[in-house]
Amino acid sequence: MTPLLDKFRQLADARDALMQLSQDPFRVTIERILSPTEARVNGRPMILAGTNNYLGLTFDPQCIEAAVQAVQEQGTGTTGSRMANGSFSGHLALEQELAEFFGRRWSNVFSTGYQANLGIIAALTGQGDVILIDADCHASIYDGCRMSGAEVIRFRHNDVADLYKRLRRLGKRCANTLIIVEGLYSMLGDRAALAEIAAAKRAYGAYLLVDEAHSLGVLGERGRGLSEEVGVEDSIDFIVGTFSKSLGATGGFCVSDHPEVDLARYVSRPYIFTASPCPSVIASTRVALRKLRTEPALRVRLWDNARRLYDELKGLGFRLGPDPGPIIAARFGQKEETIAFWNGLLQQGVYVNMILPPAAPDGGSLLRCSVSAAHTPDQIDRICGAFRSVKAALEV
Ligand code: PMP
Repeated sequence: MTPLLDKFRQLADARDALMQLSQDPFRVTIERILSPTEARVNGRPMILAGTNNYLGLTFDPQCIEAAVQAVQEQGTGTTGSRMANGSFSGHLALEQELAEFFGRRWSNVFSTGYQANLGIIAALTGQGDVILIDADCHASIYDGCRMSGAEVIRFRHNDVADLYKRLRRLGKRCANTLIIVEGLYSMLGDRAALAEIAAAKRAYGAYLLVDEAHSLGVLGERGRGLSEEVGVEDSIDFIVGTFSKSLGATGGFCVSDHPEVDLARYVSRPYIFTASPCPSVIASTRVALRKLRTEPALRVRLWDNARRLYDELKGLGFRLGPDPGPIIAARFGQKEETIAFWNGLLQQGVYVNMILPPAAPDGGSLLRCSVSAAHTPDQIDRICGAFRSVKAALEV
């Protein structure tokens, strides 16, 4: 190998070691997707319990119909940037609908949630500015920070005292500071201490961005996320979210009352230098957003399922995140034990996400379930049954 490629040697060794224990967990192929909660994997039927499909809308007939119609009328792709030929009336209509839904003046649609974080963080902050970031934030937030060139300071996960300490130290620089947290954290499903964080932001005159990727459609009376649930929307400057979870498509957005979110279109590289979302994606997302607004029963079903699975797994003795919710993560000690458990679940016909070091918080390993409104009571029972029998077989 050349020096350029040498660094892959370590990666190849790590993968070889993993393959001694398991099929490659990062290359699971859905051979056939049958519904929001079922697929064929490795030739066998599988209950999907790790998909982020919180409202189960990926097979919703009206979302599908809108997508099909958009393909027929507008073609398969836009083949261009939002800044050039890639802004169709659907993109603008969706921006308008998102702004209305959140009660904000400005809204900006990106091609993915990842790019929404990159694009908005890097546009809002630059050299001389400061970003105060919760240590457990998603990789897209970290990458946005890096792209911005701002000084990045991490505070301990959900530790408001640590946040205050760092704001105090920043003094006058607080006016140039953007605090970034998530609504529901993607790994353990725990909630930001948002009331206290919003108070800290107000006290020091900083700005606050909340990534509601996992809380949109899940929390709040109207499904607007943790900011709504906690009643602090007035103190949140920027809300970022994605279409790839409860809205069942791909894409991302930022809403705000600050007009700079609109001006960001002229400088945001992840907005400018990529093709805009396909018309079909925009069309299904618009219908999904309408359903999220008008069908609160979806949220009720999601929460019924989430509480049941959380209580059952807790009863079986699994170490879970602090709050019941649509993300239910069981913590494991040894990587080998986690891998064996994950394979055991697959053999029982249940797919969950496996998170290995260093991706999980505190260097541990996780088996992460995500619950859907589309899971039937029988499927929840079968997921619990699989956890029970693999636990008994492995004696963990
Ligand atoms: N933010 C958070 C908190 C996420 O968990 C994710 C995706 N897992 C993203 C942003 C990126 O979203 P997308 O998949 O739409 O790029």
